[in-house]
Amino acid sequence: MSLWLAFRGSELLVFQEEGTAARVPTGEEWAALGLPAEEPHLVGSLGEAEAWGVGVPADAEPPAGMAFQGLRRLFGALDEEVWKLAGRAVQIVDWDRDHRFCGRCGAGTERKEDELARVCPHCGLQQFPRISPAVIVRIERGDEILLARSPHFAPGVYSTLAGFVEPGESLEETVVREVREEVGVEVANVRYFGSQPWPFPHSLMIGFVADYAAGDLRLQEGEIEDAGWFTADTLPGLPSHYSIARRLIEGFISRYRP
Ligand SMILES: [Zn+2]
Repeated sequence: MSLWLAFRGSELLVFQEEGTAARVPTGEEWAALGLPAEEPHLVGSLGEAEAWGVGVPADAEPPAGMAFQGLRRLFGALDEEVWKLAGRAVQIVDWDRDHRFCGRCGAGTERKEDELARVCPHCGLQQFPRISPAVIVRIERGDEILLARSPHFAPGVYSTLAGFVEPGESLEETVVREVREEVGVEVANVRYFGSQPWPFPHSLMIGFVADYAAGDLRLQEGEIEDAGWFTADTLPGLPSHYSIARRLIEGFISRYRP
C-alpha cells in the first residue's frame, strides 16, 4: 500500500493505493490519473504504507472527483500524522525542484542516492534541504502572559511572540533580541518548551518560556499591531489548537484552570 502526496505548488492532493508491495508509482500511472509528475521522493511511512511525495506542474488538473487543497488550510483538518508527512514532503519536493542547478557554478545537479542531498558533478557542491529555525516564546509576569497580534492574524486573535534565528545566534539570544525588538521588554530565565516543524515554507518552531524582567511595552511598527498582558480569565482570541503557540498558551492556562 502506498500513500501518494502530490503537490501543485503548496496545494496538496492525497491518495492511497491498495496493494501488496509499496513501490514507486510509474510515469504511466501518474499519466493515467491525469497528472504529469516529477520523479517522486520516498518521504516516510504511515503504518504499512510507504509515503511518496511528488511535484506536479502548476497547471495540472486533478483527476475526476479529487481536488487540490492548500496545505495550510488542511492544518487541523487532515489526520495529524498525514499532515506531518505532507509537511515533510512539500519541503523536499520544493527543495529538489529549486536546486536543480548549482548555486556556485551553475551546472546541473544530481540527486544523491544514499542521502537527502543534491550534488554538483562539476564542482562537488552539495546542497541539503534548508530548514529555517524560528523561536516562539511565552512570556510570563506573575499570573499574566504577554500576547500580541501581527497585522496578518485573523481578527481578534493574539499569540505568543516569534521570530527567525539569525546567523551566529544561539536560540536563547534570539528570544531576547526578538522580544526586545517587537515589544521593547527585557526577558530572563529563557527555558526550552518543545518544538514543531512548520512547513511555511521551511521553518522549525522552537518553543521557549521566559520571565519578564524589565521595560514597558513599545510595539514595533509594521510587525506588532497590539500587545498586552492577560490573565487566564481575560484571554483574547487564541491561535489554532494544533499549533505550538496554542500549546504554550494552554500550558499557562492549565496552571490557573486545572
Ligand atoms: Zn557546481
